[in-house]
Amino acid sequence: MKTGNEYRDSLNDGRLTYFEGERIEDLPGHPLLGQTVDFTAVGYDKYYDPAPDATSPLLGVPQSADDLSDLIPMLHDAGMMAHVTSTSIQTLKTAAGRMEGVKPEYIERMSLYIEHAQREDVRITQCITDAKGDRSRPPGKQDDPDSYVHVVDRQRDGVVIRGAKLHITGASFGHDLLTIPTKAMKAGEEEWSVGCVVPVNAEGVKIINTTYAPRHEDTRAFPVSSQYHYPEGFVIFDDVFVPNERVFLDGETAFAAVFAHSLGLWERLGGLSAFVEEADQLVGLAQLVAEANGTAGISHIKEKISEMIIHATLIRSALEAAVSNCNVGPDGAAFPNELYVNAGKFHAAANYNQMVRHLHDIAGGAVLTAPVPADFENEEVGELARKYMAAGNEVDGEYRSSLMHAIRDLTADAYGGWKFVTNIQAGGGLYAQRIVTRRHYDLDGAKAKALALAGLGDAPAH
Ligand SMILES: Cc1cc2nc3c(=O)[nH]c(=O)nc-3n(C[C@H](O)[C@H](O)[C@H](O)COP(=O)(O)OP(=O)(O)OC[C@H]3O[C@@H](n4cnc5c(N)ncnc54)[C@H](O)[C@@H]3O)c2cc1C
Repeated sequence: MKTGNEYRDSLNDGRLTYFEGERIEDLPGHPLLGQTVDFTAVGYDKYYDPAPDATSPLLGVPQSADDLSDLIPMLHDAGMMAHVTSTSIQTLKTAAGRMEGVKPEYIERMSLYIEHAQREDVRITQCITDAKGDRSRPPGKQDDPDSYVHVVDRQRDGVVIRGAKLHITGASFGHDLLTIPTKAMKAGEEEWSVGCVVPVNAEGVKIINTTYAPRHEDTRAFPVSSQYHYPEGFVIFDDVFVPNERVFLDGETAFAAVFAHSLGLWERLGGLSAFVEEADQLVGLAQLVAEANGTAGISHIKEKISEMIIHATLIRSALEAAVSNCNVGPDGAAFPNELYVNAGKFHAAANYNQMVRHLHDIAGGAVLTAPVPADFENEEVGELARKYMAAGNEVDGEYRSSLMHAIRDLTADAYGGWKFVTNIQAGGGLYAQRIVTRRHYDLDGAKAKALALAGLGDAPAH
């Protein structure tokens, strides 16, 4: 296993990664992006075991509902890079299970790669979303065939790929890029049906980073985003050679969707579990700020918080149902229930803005204008700021401001804006969750119940 420091050192491997027009020569030493390296290193150290044959529990494959329940909080604790790595490993396991008996050589390669990843304690990011060009046209009908990642050359010992994968969370901070088709492919789309793993420092890989990290020197008024920022990567594959042993799909259009759907499932499980944690945080902030404002006993405030509580409870129920109703693949790997994951993720994402609306409504305008800690330290205005931000003798003005900063940072500033978009798009967008939910829902069962209700058929057996 790697320590945090070994992880830091491993990133100085010649990778080509860019930020705001400049190539980053020393990622761990970068003043802003180096912070993400530090968060990830902390996650390594937390789960480090010095035993020579130890492997990280973060990279394990759950075999049961209990294993899944144990894994989810560990991934939250270890941070985003552990989450995307686990999702990548589970995706390969789930895809391998769904290819059982059909493509033994791919299954063998995926198993060997997972063993390698566990042994070397690497971090893997998920590259699925293509540039896509004109959305109304399939890959083969684009003006630029590179709009979707594709094979441009096939050699005896591997393939050469070209294209770009966009919005890839943490791409510059991992070791490997799990690169898979973004959607189902049809006959004629063989060259775009490619799945493989590419090292971040492979020749031809270039990554452009964007971040919502706070740019302020004093980040005390950014309690959330100063502790949590994982840049997205715009990953370019500029004719990258991939050796055969790292190729898991090459031209078999029928299996392109297997990877996309497997990743979607695990990504949405991660998304749902994050929403569940955050819903409790939103409820807690709403209650605390109502208490600090002196409005906690007012009926319309209580109603809004009750609605937030119902939302938090319902999405937690969906997560628990997804885990306890998990399925186990042919090789013993457990995967969460598709129906509950997708319905839960959709509901959490579609109603997030409504929960934030309640929070903003309850908190008031100080969400945007509360003085920052340095103002309270100023000899001329500090005490006055404290006096006028206070709410009676019981509620200190600086305490009340700190609650406002947490709300602004989480929901109304750079990180909050990032969340609004991410919640809708990550995991394939609301559209994808609608489709998958519908596919796994028992529509025939519902029709049978409706026919029985209308006196047009027998009541279905329970
Ligand atoms: C912060 C963030 C992190 C992300 N992390 C990752 C990651 O780690 N890995 C990864 O692979 N991806 C990641 N994504 C990408 C995410 O999965 C995509 O943003 C999402 O799938 C939508 O794709 P798009 O952005 O290209 O938008 P588009 O595909 O352009 O979608 C925009 C809208 O158009 C609709 N639309 C587009 N094409 C069609 C069509 N043919 N028919 C009907 N409707 C259509 C969509 O449903 C949607 O409503 C991330 C995104 C964000 C914002």
